[in-house]
Amino acid sequence: MMKEGMELIDAHFKNEGISRRDAMKIFGVGGTAALMASGATTEVRASAAKGKILIIGGGLAGMSTAARFTNTLDNPDITVIEPGDLATSYQPGQTLVGAGIWEKEDVMYKTENFIPSGTTVIKEKAVEFDPKNNTVKTSGGKTIKYDYMVVAAGVKLAFDKIEGLGISETITSTGDHSAVSKVIGKNGLTSIYYQQGSADTWTEMQKFIADAKSGKKVKGVFTHPNTPIKCGGAPKKIMYLTDARLREAGVRDNAELMFYPNGSKMFGVKEYHNAIEKQFGERDMKWNYRHNLIAVDPKAKTATFNRHWKQKGEWDEDLEEYGIELKSKEVTVPYDFMHITPPMVATEEIASSPIGSGKGWVPVDKETLQHVKFPNVFSLGDIAGIPMGKTGGSARKQYKVVVDNIVTLMEGGDINKNPKYAGYTVCPLITSIGTVMLAEFNWTKKPTPMVPLDPTQERWIWWLLKVYALKPMTQFGMLSGRA
Ligand SMILES: Cc1cc2nc3c(=O)[nH]c(=O)nc-3n(C[C@H](O)[C@H](O)[C@H](O)COP(=O)(O)OP(=O)(O)OC[C@H]3O[C@@H](n4cnc5c(N)ncnc54)[C@H](O)[C@@H]3O)c2cc1C
Repeated sequence: MMKEGMELIDAHFKNEGISRRDAMKIFGVGGTAALMASGATTEVRASAAKGKILIIGGGLAGMSTAARFTNTLDNPDITVIEPGDLATSYQPGQTLVGAGIWEKEDVMYKTENFIPSGTTVIKEKAVEFDPKNNTVKTSGGKTIKYDYMVVAAGVKLAFDKIEGLGISETITSTGDHSAVSKVIGKNGLTSIYYQQGSADTWTEMQKFIADAKSGKKVKGVFTHPNTPIKCGGAPKKIMYLTDARLREAGVRDNAELMFYPNGSKMFGVKEYHNAIEKQFGERDMKWNYRHNLIAVDPKAKTATFNRHWKQKGEWDEDLEEYGIELKSKEVTVPYDFMHITPPMVATEEIASSPIGSGKGWVPVDKETLQHVKFPNVFSLGDIAGIPMGKTGGSARKQYKVVVDNIVTLMEGGDINKNPKYAGYTVCPLITSIGTVMLAEFNWTKKPTPMVPLDPTQERWIWWLLKVYALKPMTQFGMLSGRA
C-alpha cells in the first residue's frame, strides 16, 4: 500500500514540475520516502563521549532521542523511564481512526518493539526529581542517578476540568483510559485525543449520520479549550471529516456543525486563518469564537461554555482614556454529537517539581532546549515550555538539537555554536476525505512551505502524504533516530 502511495506522490510531484529528487531534498517529510526507498539517513555524528543519560518518557520524542543517542555515541549509557506498553503509538493517526479511515490497530505500536539496542527501559513512572543531586525516584522506589536528563513526558488530558462529566483523573493519549470511558465515547460524546476514544468517535459519528439519514435535524458541536494543546489542528480536522462523512451519506443538509474555540482565530498564522475561514464558509461549517467549554450534561446532552469578550470600560481621569473590561457569560447549547478537545496540562509530578514551572511546562530556552535553571537538563516534545510546537513534526526537529547539544556538553564544547531549533511546526490540516492543507510555519508566524506550492491550498498530494508516508516516517525514520 505504501509503495503504491509513494508512486502516486512521485507522479503528482512530476505533474507539478517538481522532480522527486528536488522534492525530497527540500522537503524533510518527503525525505522519508527517499529514506525508505534508498536506505539514506540524515547525518549522525560519531562521538566517544561518555555520560549517563536519563530520558523521562518513552513516547515519540523520548524514544526518538534515545535512538539518536545510540546512533551517535560509541558507548551509549541510556535509560528511559516509561510506564506505558503502547507509548510509541502513532497518535496523529487517531484523527483518521475517528473518521473510520483507519482502524485503531493501525496506529498502535508496542513500546517494546521500538527500544533502541543498548537502551534500558524502566517500566515505571518518574515521581520525584532532585536536579541539584542529579537523581530521579521512580514509582517502584528506585533512585536513578544521571549526568544528563531529557524530559519528554508529553501532556495529560484533563477531562476532569470539565464539570458534569464525573471524571476525577487525568489520562494520557495511549495509556489507561478507564477514568474517562464511562462517559466519553458514548451517547454522542467523543474525543479522538486518546486511542480508544478515536475508535469510539467513529462509532458515535456513524450514529449521528444515521440520525441525519432518518430525517432528524441534528447538531454537531466541536470544542477547543483554553490551554495549549497538542496538534492545534485536530479539533478542526475531525469537524472537516464529520462534514465529509455527512456529505458522502447525502445528508449534510440535516446537520448543523458548529465550532466553539476558546480563542478568537482559526490559526495563529494569518494566511492559514484566512484560508480556514474561507473553507469553513464554503462547507457551511459554522464557528463561534471565545467560547471555552466548562460543563457538560451528558443526560440532557447540553454543553455549557464560558463566552468571554472585551469591551470599552469607564473613562479613566488619570490616564485620560477608556479602560478595557473583561466580560463573560455562560452559554448552554444542545448537541447530538460533540467532539471534546480536553484541556491539556503537564503531568503533576513534573509540573510541581523543581524542574517544572508555574504553568507546569518544563521551562527551557526555546532555541537550545536547555533547562533555564539546570544546564544538564533538556526538554522536548509536548511538555517543553516553548511557544507553539506541540506536534510530532516539531519533535522531529527538536530531538536532533537536544542530542547534538548534550553530546557537545559531554565533549566539553559550546552548545551556542550548534544549530538551533527555529520553531518549525507542521500541521497537515485534513479538510476532507482526499484533501489536506499542509500548514508549515515557525516562530516568524509566517507560512514556511518546504515545497514551492501555495501552502494555503487544499491538495490531494498532501492527503497521500498524510495517509501513506507520515506513519512510516515516524516508525522507520524518527523512532530509529535518523529522520
Ligand atoms: C488526535 C491527535 C492528532 C495529532 N495529529 C498530529 C499531526 O497531524 N501532526 C503532528 O506532527 N502531530 C500530531 N499530534 C501530536 C503528536 O502526536 C505529539 O506531539 C507527539 O506524540 C509528542 O510526543 P511526546 O513524546 O512529547 O509525547 P507522547 O508521545 O505523548 O509521549 C509522552 C510519554 O511520557 C510518558 N510519561 C508521562 N509521565 C511520565 C512520568 N512521570 N514518568 C515517565 N514517563 C512519563 C507517557 O506515558 C508517554 O508515553 C497529534 C496528537 C493527537 C492526540
